[in-house]
Amino acid sequence: MRPTLADYTHLSSGKVRDLYDIDEHSLLMVASDRISAYDHVLNTPIPDKGRILTAMSVYFFSELGVPHHLASAPDDERIPEEVLGRALIVKKLSMIPFECVARGYLTGSALKDYRETGTVCGIALPDGLTEASKLEEAVFTPATKADVGDHDENISFAAVVDRLGEELAHKVREETLDIYLRASSLTEARGLLLADTKFEFGVDSAGNLILADEVLTPDSSRFWTVADYEPGKVQPSFDKQFVRDWLTGPESGWDRSSDAQPPELPEDVVDATRKRYIEAYERISGLQFDDWLGESAWRGA
Ligand code: ATP
Ligand code: MG
Repeated sequence: MRPTLADYTHLSSGKVRDLYDIDEHSLLMVASDRISAYDHVLNTPIPDKGRILTAMSVYFFSELGVPHHLASAPDDERIPEEVLGRALIVKKLSMIPFECVARGYLTGSALKDYRETGTVCGIALPDGLTEASKLEEAVFTPATKADVGDHDENISFAAVVDRLGEELAHKVREETLDIYLRASSLTEARGLLLADTKFEFGVDSAGNLILADEVLTPDSSRFWTVADYEPGKVQPSFDKQFVRDWLTGPESGWDRSSDAQPPELPEDVVDATRKRYIEAYERISGLQFDDWLGESAWRGA
């Protein structure tokens, strides 16, 4: 019989995921169905989101061919029934205290920094770039890991070197860009641009750099459809567009500029968003979400 969640010590909870202690070497990482938009975690969960994002992470961990933190199969018998499909057993690592972001396109905080200074994380960019411009070369734009409620802050590569030393800092930058490039050719072949993405790395007891956390999910990445890509304007968000449109539209009655918690999402917005997440997974992986945890979705740790 599988254990229950209550059998494990709860260690911490972030906006989306909860960590539990399994043993000296491993953790249980549980993804919830919570969704955030405009810096708020909404009161309405998206059914299956945690399972879909877990399936996506597992797909990329097994596809990328780099050392990663998955410690066992996603149906491991130590995973409680109540979180099966949205929980993973991972190696306990000493986490590198930065968000390792790679960008191939200019948007979000990078666009804001560029408009103010002409640079992003200390990297000078050419003049004349606009919203969603493709960058000549992908850039490494590290950020601090903010506490809950705070924004992550972009920092220079020099600040990463200060904290990690030359060797590890260079390794982290190279790995980040290398994985980004590989992942973007995978998604582009399926009709989606990977505008940017965030990785987290950890170091194991032998000193190896290991890809950790979640990877290449809509929560950690911006996916844009190749067919609709048009620089010069804000690109629709592949996964959250229905949520954003509804929240900022006339029906929600919500004022984005206020501090107020957004209202509950209506059922059709929830359904459409759930379908979008499934579509993202199926399109990118070529796998069926109904088969998740079946044999095809898992090819070994
Ligand atoms: P938020 O995403 O809400 O800003 P968060 O990133 O702290 O906050 P979550 O993403 O919800 O929270 O939870 C995942 C946490 O687990 C992160 O703190 C992440 O650094 C940590 N983590 C991921 N993989 C490992 C690992 N292999 N070993 C130790 N910690 C890990
Ligand atoms: Mg996180």
